[in-house]
Amino acid sequence: MSQAELYDLVIVGAGPGGLSAAIYAMRGALKTMLIEKAAPGGQVNLSDEVENYPGFVHVSGAELSMRFAEHARSYPLEELNDEVVAIEPGLEHHTVRTAGGRVIGVHAVILATGGSPRKLGVPGEDELYGKGVSYCAVCDGFFFRGKRVIVVGGGDSACEEGLYLAKLAEQVYLVHRRDALRASMILQQRVEAECKMEVVWNSVVNEIKADGEGVNGVELKDTRTGELRDMPIDGVFVFVGFVPNNELVPAGVRLNAEGFVITDDQCRTSIPGIYAIGDLREKYARQIVLSAGDGCMAALSAAHYVEGRKAKLSAETCELPAGSMDTH
Ligand code: NAP
Repeated sequence: MSQAELYDLVIVGAGPGGLSAAIYAMRGALKTMLIEKAAPGGQVNLSDEVENYPGFVHVSGAELSMRFAEHARSYPLEELNDEVVAIEPGLEHHTVRTAGGRVIGVHAVILATGGSPRKLGVPGEDELYGKGVSYCAVCDGFFFRGKRVIVVGGGDSACEEGLYLAKLAEQVYLVHRRDALRASMILQQRVEAECKMEVVWNSVVNEIKADGEGVNGVELKDTRTGELRDMPIDGVFVFVGFVPNNELVPAGVRLNAEGFVITDDQCRTSIPGIYAIGDLREKYARQIVLSAGDGCMAALSAAHYVEGRKAKLSAETCELPAGSMDTH
């Protein structure tokens, strides 16, 4: 591999974690490439409002993403709009391959690939996706103006997205499998105060039903009694957590039972030079500010690692017997 193709750091994913890592990597003078297959921002782009990123009392997810990207781009950051298809760990350096045919040698890789919405796994869900089943209120809420929808889940996402939908829909039913919400107290209080929202406790969706027009109802099951009942409804928004986008994590990196990458406090995985940050890694809470913090930590740790690697490689080169560097 020629020197031109050898990078200090490749960051995969341009969400809050990846962009924060890029800022710190550029400030650490690492030869860095940021690879993203879609637009910068990731899942944050889908948030209507963010109210807990310090310094911003209210900001839309799209604006916050734009500001992160602008900040990273204020440095001469090399960006590649391409899909990474493989990360191959190596002894001398790691290799990153892209769908566009790039083969990049690199000392350190920061994986910032985030997660995707978890599905309910019930009949009708896949078939009716886009026909009344959605995983994004900001994207699809518009189509349910004046209609009746259910939101499935009891976490921060379900409450936030339900509150957003309440601005558009006639009625929003929050269907939760237990008798207490998991969401933060401030969101619980807002749900309680929103007259267009009603929580359907101790219930799960058993099946999503449709007519020729799309979703027209769900079958709910009472989790205490097992009793089934039909509920006529126009749309189903699913927010039951998410699964890590771990497809690129190389074999040999330790994952937990749910597929999140196990790291140490520097976001280092079990393979030297491979880092995992943000929603991809096992952690107690998932917040934009934590992903940004992970990006900082991983980039600082990677800078230290890369410096050590380069010093070791140059010492090994100096120790080679005379004549061994000759090329013919
Ligand atoms: P989450 O916190 O994991 O909550 C998922 C919810 O879905 C839980 O209430 C869970 O019920 C329920 N659930 C899971 N599987 C289900 C199934 N098969 N059928 C029915 N219900 C099911 O996920 P999230 O709300 O997407 O949040 C993910 C992370 O992002 C969290 O750390 C959250 O704090 C964070 N987040 C933060 C904000 C914010 O700070 N503003 C906004 C969005 C997300 P149980 O409660 O019974 O387990």
